Amino acid sequence: MNNFFHTKIEFLKGVGPQRAELLQKELNIYTYGDLIQHYPFRYLDRTQFYKIAELDESMPYVQVRGRVRGKEVLGEGRKQRLAATLVDEDGSEMELVWFKGVKWMQKTLKNHTDYIVFGKPTQFNGKWSMAHPELEEQGEEKQTASFLQPVYNTTEKLKAFRVESKVIARMMELLLKVAEPNIHETLSPELIDHYRLMSKRDALINIHFPQSVEKYNAAKFRLKFEELFYIQLRLLRQKTVRRADLAGQVFRQVPTVTEFYKNHMTFDLTNAQKRVIKEIHKDLTAGKQMNRLLQGDVGSGKTIVAFITMLIAADNGAQSVLMAPTEILADQHYTGLKAFADRLGINIGKLTGSTKTKDRKVLHEQLRSGEMKMIVGTHALLEDVVQFQNLGLCIVDEQHRFGVEQRSRLWRKNPRIIPHVLVMTATPIPRTLAMTLYGDLDVSVIDEMPAGRKEIVTVHRFDSHRLKVFQFVRDQIKLGRQVYIVYPLIEESEGMDYKDLMDGYESVRRAFPEYQVSMVHGKLKAQDKDYEMQRFVKNETQIMVATTVIEVGVNVPNASVMIIESAERFGLSQLHQLRGRVGRGAEQSYCILMTGYKLSKDSKTRLETMVRTNNGFEIADIDLKLRGPGDLMGTQQSGVLDLLIADLAKDAPILQEARAAAQRVLNEDPQLEQPQNQNIMRHIKSLSVNTVNWSRIS
Ligand code: ADP
Ligand code: MG
Repeated sequence: MNNFFHTKIEFLKGVGPQRAELLQKELNIYTYGDLIQHYPFRYLDRTQFYKIAELDESMPYVQVRGRVRGKEVLGEGRKQRLAATLVDEDGSEMELVWFKGVKWMQKTLKNHTDYIVFGKPTQFNGKWSMAHPELEEQGEEKQTASFLQPVYNTTEKLKAFRVESKVIARMMELLLKVAEPNIHETLSPELIDHYRLMSKRDALINIHFPQSVEKYNAAKFRLKFEELFYIQLRLLRQKTVRRADLAGQVFRQVPTVTEFYKNHMTFDLTNAQKRVIKEIHKDLTAGKQMNRLLQGDVGSGKTIVAFITMLIAADNGAQSVLMAPTEILADQHYTGLKAFADRLGINIGKLTGSTKTKDRKVLHEQLRSGEMKMIVGTHALLEDVVQFQNLGLCIVDEQHRFGVEQRSRLWRKNPRIIPHVLVMTATPIPRTLAMTLYGDLDVSVIDEMPAGRKEIVTVHRFDSHRLKVFQFVRDQIKLGRQVYIVYPLIEESEGMDYKDLMDGYESVRRAFPEYQVSMVHGKLKAQDKDYEMQRFVKNETQIMVATTVIEVGVNVPNASVMIIESAERFGLSQLHQLRGRVGRGAEQSYCILMTGYKLSKDSKTRLETMVRTNNGFEIADIDLKLRGPGDLMGTQQSGVLDLLIADLAKDAPILQEARAAAQRVLNEDPQLEQPQNQNIMRHIKSLSVNTVNWSRIS
């Protein structure tokens, strides 16, 4: 778009300086461009009316036609409110209430007059009521060409200055009239053609004032596509730039890998593991630096993939590092990898904060000489004294715990050629989100569990059944198993939560006097935490009472029961992560979600989902739908998710098409300099000129 859309909003007829300032402050609307992208968040379907008798509290918003019969101001001072009665044609009644702007409503609401009211119906003492409904006098409806009337987001402050949704709609009408001749196409003719997209001009008109259902749908698709296309285009361009810059070692030799496959594998790789290894292998032979994210649910078998990748490096004379965020995790990785390495006689080491000075010296030397091919560790690996003969591969586990800066200290340990990078995470990020967040990384997914794995049995039990649950625990321990009992710890209510945890610990000890009980939580010193964990790992204690500190990575195959207290207070992804602590051994495992009787609708959905499925990606998708992407781990700071119209939870198919389109465009014309892409180039330039708000989508 050209400069027309950079025109300040105050120049629009009917806006003026005062409203302009409010629009800026309240809605971030500075320019014509900002306003035109203030898309309706829903529409009023003028054809759909409800009778009061048909209302149901699950309805979000409804439109009701009726006559106002009586209105009165009730209460005093701050409790003052205006109540009116609306009677529909059947004679059913509903109360309309205003707590704010009482005087104004008292003046403008006409008694004995027919209105269309719009709002959320709620029931109060068996009577229907609607607070602060939108009102329209019947017969007042304009004969607009639009069958759906736009409803715009606004704020209390704006409403106080009479900038309601309707007023914004009027501004929009005016704006569209003057803007129409200035709306340029922002996608290439080839894309418009290929994806049968509506023109930008028609899309903007129809998103605000749909002329038909078909046109509305086409407009919505076009604008979502465009939004996602430009995000992907940016991410992919960053990737190509980086790719072109960074060379990587070529790892073509695989003799030991072949031997390992032939003689030392104790199980068959799953198809997903094979596919992922192929993807990695392709990267490692391409001559460019690998930057890959490996996602896989807990227990999906990432360790063997990591090991084979490290083995490929070793086969080509390069060293590799696996870095974990905690000592416990580093230990577990080390144990897992060493089991494989030992079969091949490969020298693998471990370096953490608690490695003794004497041992450190040896490790340092062996790394410098190249005698040691693989090393597992924690932050201790980042220290400057740790130098390599030829570091060729860095694997980082649980990536969200490490800062970018920390990671780059690893990369720099090979001054000649930057090591390949594989980031592993067990936090299932929905594919749509991964594509957006990590658009500049390649993503591999292990989406299949090893065969023969027993599904964890998940049940929901109310607190009142605790005795039975404890009996079950006792039976399991008698069979030789171990048990986790996890308590929530939410920052805002920390004090209370610790009390819950301590009370829980005491009652568990009382209930199981014959067994040993460990406890870990975030207030313990790292050393004490490790000590308690180790006791549990060694089966010296049978029950582990803990907060979510045990969430990440801990692997105790003998633990087969996970009890989650106040399960309604955990997010879905977190519940799933916790459940992943069990089900790691040969035994049937159980996850028991404990709650009280009072549960919100969302809590119920979370619990039901957990009981129904073990699939981490399905769970992540539902979590995304329940919470929205902004809440998911590590995505808060990412402006990427600040979308105007597209919705990552719902628009995965469009995202995929947009990404493919962006990829195609860049393959054919990496610099976007050919004539058919001039619309795209011009749009990118116009996005970067205005840094105020349009930058949101650049
Ligand atoms: P995670 O992805 O959580 O790190 P692990 O790599 O620890 O999972 O694997 C979990 C368990 O499954 C380990 O005991 C591992 O040896 C085993 N495993 C991995 N891949 C397979 C497979 N293809 N078939 C059978 N067992 C496997
Ligand atoms: Mg693991």
